[in-house]
Parts: sequence; structure tokens; C-alpha cells
Amino acid sequence: NIPGDPTAAAVRTTCPYCGVGCGVMADVAADGSVSVRGDPDHPANFGKLCSKGSALGETTGLDGRMLYPEIAGRQACWDDALDLVAKRFTDTIAAHGPDSVAFYVSGQLLTEDYYVANKLMKGFIGSGNIDTNSRLCMASSVAGHRRAFGEDVVPGTYEDFEEADLVVLTGSNTAWCHPILYQRLLAARRTRGTKIIVIDPRRTATAQECDLHLAIDPGTDVLLFNGVLAHLARSNVIDQNYVGAATSGFAEALSAALADAPSSASVATGCGLAEADVQLFFQLFAGTERTVTVYSQGVNQSSRGTDKVNAIVNCHLATGRIGRPGMGPFSVTGQPNAMGGREVGGLANQLAAHMGFESPEDIDRVARFWRAPNIASRPGLKAVDLFRAVGEGRIKALWVMGTNPAVSMPDAGRVRAALKSCEFVVVSDITRTDTTRYADVYLPAAGWGEKDGTVTNSERRISRQRAFLPPPGEARPDWRIVCDVARRMGFGDAFAYDGPAAIFREHAALSTYENGGRRVFDIGAMAMDEAAYDAMPPRHWPVAEESVSHHRLFADGRFPTPDGRARFVAVRQDRLARTVDATFPIALNTGRLRDQWHTMTRTGRVPRLAANTPEAMIDISAADAGAYGLADGDLARVTSAQGTARAKARITDTVRPGQAFLPMHWSGSFATNAAAGSISTPDVDPISGQPELKHTPVHIAREEIN
Ligand code: SF4
Repeated sequence: NIPGDPTAAAVRTTCPYCGVGCGVMADVAADGSVSVRGDPDHPANFGKLCSKGSALGETTGLDGRMLYPEIAGRQACWDDALDLVAKRFTDTIAAHGPDSVAFYVSGQLLTEDYYVANKLMKGFIGSGNIDTNSRLCMASSVAGHRRAFGEDVVPGTYEDFEEADLVVLTGSNTAWCHPILYQRLLAARRTRGTKIIVIDPRRTATAQECDLHLAIDPGTDVLLFNGVLAHLARSNVIDQNYVGAATSGFAEALSAALADAPSSASVATGCGLAEADVQLFFQLFAGTERTVTVYSQGVNQSSRGTDKVNAIVNCHLATGRIGRPGMGPFSVTGQPNAMGGREVGGLANQLAAHMGFESPEDIDRVARFWRAPNIASRPGLKAVDLFRAVGEGRIKALWVMGTNPAVSMPDAGRVRAALKSCEFVVVSDITRTDTTRYADVYLPAAGWGEKDGTVTNSERRISRQRAFLPPPGEARPDWRIVCDVARRMGFGDAFAYDGPAAIFREHAALSTYENGGRRVFDIGAMAMDEAAYDAMPPRHWPVAEESVSHHRLFADGRFPTPDGRARFVAVRQDRLARTVDATFPIALNTGRLRDQWHTMTRTGRVPRLAANTPEAMIDISAADAGAYGLADGDLARVTSAQGTARAKARITDTVRPGQAFLPMHWSGSFATNAAAGSISTPDVDPISGQPELKHTPVHIAREEIN
């Protein structure tokens, strides 16, 4: 932490980076400089911050900030910019229908921002075409949860990491991507002796600290967890009482698992592992009641992501290890408010407040609540399809809020071409990015520390983000920008909020309902007046009482499905959408570094965060470096079916021969052409629509520098 004066008045807020959702105390000095420290009272981090969170104070300066609206690249006044946005969206809808427009939003938005954007698109414009960059980080978990539990919910809490005897980290470099949660796990391990197993093709920082690392072949997770389920059955570890009373579909799921994984030897062969390691994993899983299985992007960012999630959940349902201390499947979210966005319905295939388009009653309930004249009745386009529709001219007006798809989307070259060809592009953001280049209208948004609202972290804990700085120039909070446009489109009454507290109250009221006689999503108890909203301490939903510390779901063995039972899903190991071949022989994995965030529009401002990895490096094995004529530090040209990127080669034993790893952070804005998105495949999971960002077949060669 940056040392701060613990007695000074500080504003309590929440870190805007990862889904751990750490509490931050921000101090503003007389000269306007900002220092931060961890909030000792926040139950996510108890005063600790990681390298990124600790550097937040160095990101609040005005370098690169956009201070005024722009129309066609020229400074404009807010009224002209908002009038133009409203007119072009209204005219486009009148000429081509509501599905000719779209919003692409962000897990960086606050819940209140998300709520009004979703309400405008789905309730008043009448299209489902609002999707989010969270599609890239956790859509497969959403789909898997809905298949298994009937709702998209994470059953456990962070305390389960500390109360477990075995933690299985699957496709999760927790040490770098959720550092404070990882520190909590390590602290518990020191006192409790928790065993940690890491399942990851790469020997990540997390894998280097664990008791057993299973470096599986990419995309073989379903086979591995089907092997676990088959082993549980063979070892008589199935909790027959729980399976009989609380679940359905066990026989089919077990049959699929047994067909996939008849023996530990077959699993070992299929996953590229030593049989002894597979057996040890199976034995530890079967023999440890308090087991938490954590999964993240390595599971989600896959053309088989949803099946992977359900293969994991199946093993917990089979043993009844869910809803109790120290056990359960646990999806950790990548972004600060990926969870809040899910809660308001900010995904194209959700309606609002955990309600979906499948139910006419839900659509009617939301329409009546919003008094919505033109509610969408079917899902909109998910991110990859949405940008495809932009490129094909089917979407003619697009509003991008708080995200940088020109770099971060897979097949980003095609996305940039789509943005360029789109008839009307609006971008609201805090800084100039690769995406703002394509904006017909730019709207300056208030950033972290300049606006008020809420975020929800990976364990369903709602925390306040609070303003401690005035927005610079003419920047405005996102919720207000959306409402200003909505009013100009003729929807004034429904968007006449006087602040984020009013939006939160409405969100809380909509979010309290019954489904099959059970309240599944209930933050109604948190409806509060302005002062209470201002003072709101971090709270788990669905329980708002301060005195209650544990908020696990499903402790009673009842689930929000029509019959109240959790559902096993029969899944089979399948090939990924694309496999390596003679033309593209290397499987490229992408991901985060410890000290950077997304496309570095914020962390890129802090020189010390770049100290460890100042430029884009591609990790390759010594065998592949030899085969492709690369020495350590050579510039490598990485080519896929989508495009080419360049990065310096780093020869390492953390990746296996035939695999490579490129960080996701770099873009054209940062002096390299190493945008992972430019070469990543646009293949998606057919259920969740989440792109396969962990497995793109590529060719690597030495780049000659003249
Ligand atoms: Fe922020 Fe995540 Fe680090 Fe916590 S662990 S300080 S939420 S980046």
C-alpha cells in the first residue's frame, strides 16, 4: 500500500479493476494529488491492495482525458452532441426498426449506469441489442449457472476459500488476476494446510505455488472433470441422499462421464497428463469434503466454455458440496462490475434483474414495472455477432460505452473495419482510445473517483464507488448521459432520475420478485433513501443485515428451477472449434499480466506498473524457439487466420512446446502492434457466445528488422 495518514479524512470507495472488489480509502491532498490505501473494514480485502490497486492514486490525473464533447472530431457543446445522438438513433429506428441500433457497454460501468442503458434499449427502444465486454470474460459461467441452478448466481463467498481443505483453481491465474483473493487463500493455507491444485496448460505464477499442477492440453477440461465424476461414482463418494433430494439428471450426466472417461489412464491420455497426477487429483477431490473449485477465464473463454462449467458443477452436485462452508463451485469474475451488469440484465440474452426472454410473464412484469411502451421480446445480438452485424450494415447506429472493442474484441481488425463502415458511432469514455477514432460523436464520461454508484463483486457483495474528485472539464457520469439521450428521444418520464440513489432504488424494487415461490434475486431490502445510499456499507445480496456474515446460497438444497432441483447437465468432451495444423501449428493463449489492466488506458499511465514487463512479450518454449529460429528477445511475428501481431520472444519453460502466451494488454496506442485481439479467433461457445480467447492456432516467425 501507499502509506497514508490513517487519521486523515478519506473517502471509502471500491477498486475499479478486478472482480475481487477491494475497498479503497482515497485521500485528496491540498495540491489535488490523490493517495490510496486499502480499506481495513472492507470484507473483501481487509486493508490490503495489490499492485494495480495501490497505484490508483497515480491514475487520476488529466493526461489523455477527454474534457469536452466532440462532433466529427471537433469540440461541441453537450446540447448539440446529445441532440445529434438522440436524433440519429430516433431516425435510424424509424427508418430501419429497433434492431438496427445497438449499445456495447462495459463491466467498468456502475450498476446504475448499466441499469439505465439496459432500460433504454430493452424497454424503450425495444431491442435486445445491448451487450457488454463482460461477454468476453464470464458469459460461459452465466450460461452454465443458468443450466444448473436455474439462475446465474455464484453460490459461495470468499470465506469459502479460507474454510476449504482443497481449492482447485481451474483456468485461473489467481495470483495475478485476483491477487488479494489469492493472498487470502495463501494466508488460510498457512494456518489450515489447504491443498491447492492448479489446472492450467501454463505454469503460471499460481501454478508455481501449488501442491499439484495439472498442465492439461488446452480445451480438455470437460474430460478431466468427467473423469472426476466417474471416479466419484466408482469410489462410492456420490452423496445419494443429496442427489436424490435436490437434483435431477444425475444418471444421464454420469453415463456421459463414464463414456468419456472409463479410466484414469484414458483421462491422462486425453488430457496430456501423467496418470499418477490424474489419480492423485481424483483421490484428493473424492476424499476432501471441503472442496472449492474456482474457475475463471481459462474455463469461460472457450468454444466449449459452458460445458466446462457444467462438468465442474456436476462434481459438486454429485457430492452435495455446495451451499455449505468451504465448498462449492466458484466462478471469479474478471471485471469490477461484471456481476452488477449481470444483475441488471446487461447481456443481450437477459432481460432485466435476472429475468429472461424465455418467460412471457417476466417480459410482462418488466414492461409493467418500467411502463415500457415497446419492450423487447427476444434476445439481442451477443458481442461477436453484434459487431458482425455492424460490419454487414444491419446495425446502423452504435453506442460504445466505457470499453475499447477496436482492440479488445477478437478478430479486432474486422471490428475496426465494422466501426469504420458504421453509419453512426457514439463513444462515451474517459480517455481517447483506439475506439474513439471511429466516433462520430464523442461524449466525455466521468471516471473512477468522479462519480457515485455501486458495483457487485464475485461473491455478490454490493459496494459503493464514491466520488472524491470533481469531474474534469465537462465530463458527466454515464447514467446521466444515457438519461439525457433518453429524454431527447421522448422517454423523459421514465428517465427523470435525480441521482444514482434513485436508480438504485428502482433497481432494488425491480429485483425483488418471486420465481416458483422462491425469492431468487432480492436486493429489495437494500432500497434506501439518499443518506442511507451515501453511507451504504458493503452488503451481500440477498441478505442486507449487517450482523449476518455468511450469505451462501442453496444451503437448503432448493434451487430456483421449476421443480426446485439443481440440474446435472450431461456433457461430453469435444474438440475446440479450431485446432492447430501445419499452417498454424502453435496454440496461442492470451491473458492478463499482474500489473496491467485490459488495454492499459488507465494502468498505462503509471510507469512503475510497467517495470516488470515494459513491452509486449510472447512466451514460447525453447523447442519452438529453436524450430522457428528465434532467440530470446528477438521480435516475433505472430500470424493467425485473422491477422498479425508482433512481440518480443521470451523463451520460457512456463509454456509447453506447441503453445504460446501473449498478454492481452497491448494495442496500437502503446507503440507496438501487439494487440492480441487482432489475431484471436472469433469462434464462440455456441451457448454463451463467449469467444475462444485462450486458443487461437498461430504461426510464429522471426521478424527481420531492417
Ligand atoms: Fe483492485 Fe483486484 Fe487488486 Fe483488489 S485485487 S486491489 S480489486 S485489482
